[in-house]
Amino acid sequence: MMLFNQEDYYNLCVKCGKCRSVCPVFHEEKEEGASPRGKTALVQALSGHALNASKRTKRFLSECLLCTACSAVCPNGVRVDLMVLSARQQLSGYAGHRLMETVLTKVVFSNTSTSFKLGSVVEEVAGEKMVSGSGVFYRLPARHVIPEIRGEKFSASKKNAHTQPAATGFFLGCLIDFINHAVAGDAVRLLLASGKNPYIPAGQACCGLPALSMGDTKTALRQARAVVSLFETADTIVTACGSCGAMLKHYYPLLFDDPAEKEKVSKFSEKVKDITEVVDPDVFRRAERGDVTITYHDSCHLKRGMAVSQEPRRLLERAGYILREMEHPDRCCGLGGAFHLKHRELSRAITRKKTDDIRATGAATVATGFPGCMANIGAMLIEEHSSVTVVHTVNLLAAGLKK
Ligand code: SF4
Ligand code: SF4
Repeated sequence: MMLFNQEDYYNLCVKCGKCRSVCPVFHEEKEEGASPRGKTALVQALSGHALNASKRTKRFLSECLLCTACSAVCPNGVRVDLMVLSARQQLSGYAGHRLMETVLTKVVFSNTSTSFKLGSVVEEVAGEKMVSGSGVFYRLPARHVIPEIRGEKFSASKKNAHTQPAATGFFLGCLIDFINHAVAGDAVRLLLASGKNPYIPAGQACCGLPALSMGDTKTALRQARAVVSLFETADTIVTACGSCGAMLKHYYPLLFDDPAEKEKVSKFSEKVKDITEVVDPDVFRRAERGDVTITYHDSCHLKRGMAVSQEPRRLLERAGYILREMEHPDRCCGLGGAFHLKHRELSRAITRKKTDDIRATGAATVATGFPGCMANIGAMLIEEHSSVTVVHTVNLLAAGLKK
C-alpha cells in the first residue's frame, strides 16, 4: 500500500518558492534539494523514474523534520510532509531499512515495555556517567528535563486507577507513559477537575509515528490498529502529546486501504483531542500566579497537526501566568524524531535558534505540549548554561488548580 497518490500533490506545485522562506532545514543548508520545493521535485522525479535513488537524494529526503511549516504557507496546499513520508516508504521498500531505523522501529518502539525497562536499567547504571560525558548525554533525553526512564508504565502501574472503560479515553504515548509520569498524573488531575473520569487502558503502546516517519508503514499500521481497538467505547480520546495526537488524528486514516476499516478509523480520529481542548477554564485559582512570566513553544504537530495553539495559551493565562511570546513560537525546535539522531549538527543548529528566541523573552520558564520538544530544548538550554526551565503545559496548569 502507498500512503496516498504522490501525483496528487507534486502536480499542484507551481515552484513559487514560498515554502523555502519557512523551512528550518533550508535556512541552514541553503541548497535547493533541502528545500520543500526541491524535495517535491525529487519525489516527482523518483516517481517518474527520471532519477535514481542516489545517496544525495536519500539524504535530502531524510533531511525533513516533518514540521509542516511549508504546507502551512503553500498557496496550493502541497503536503510536502506526506510526499516525504511516502518517498521514505518507497525507498525503504527497495533499499532496505538502515540499521538505526530497523532497531528503532522493529525493536525499541515495537516492544516498548522491554525497551524502556532496559533503558531504565542502563540509566540507573550509567546515568551519572552520561550526564558528565560530552557527546552521549545530548543524544539521550536530558536527565534534568526527563527525570528518569521508568521501568514500569504509568498505565500499568498501581497509580493508574482508571482502567474501567469510560467516555473519555486517555492515550498517553511512550514518552509520558514510560518517562514523564508527572505529566500523566497532572493530566489526570486536570481531567478529573474538569468533570471527566479518564479511561487509561493498561495495554496501550506506541502510536506508530516513529515507524511511519522512518518509512516502515507496515509496523505503523499494526500499531495504529492496536491503539484504535483499545478505545472503542470512548467518545473522546485525549492526548497530552502533540505528536501522538497528530498521528492519531491525521495520519491514522491515511494508513488504511480497506474502506470499512478506513471509515472506522476516521471516526476514531475525529474523536481525538489535545487535553487543552477539554480542560474546563473555570477550574483554576485566579490571579494568584500573576508574578510568573512564561513563554510558550508551539510543538509543530500540536499547532499544525492538531490545529491547537490558542487553547493552551488561553488556559495558561486563565491559570494566572503572564505570557510573553517569543519571536517565532511555532518554528520547529529541531527534534523531528529520528532526524535529531541522523542529522545531529543540523538539528542542533535549528535548536539553537529556538533557545535564542526563548532566552530573548527573559521568561524563566518555557511551556510546551510535547515531551520530545521538552527534552530537546531542555538539553540545549542545559548545554548553554541557561537557567530557563522547560515544563509541560499540563504541569503549569495543574499547579494553578483550585485546591
Ligand atoms: S509553496 Fe507550494 S507551490 Fe510554492 S514551491 Fe512550495 S510546494 Fe510548490
Ligand atoms: S516539513 Fe519542515 S523540514 Fe520538511 S520540508 Fe517542510 S518546512 Fe522543511
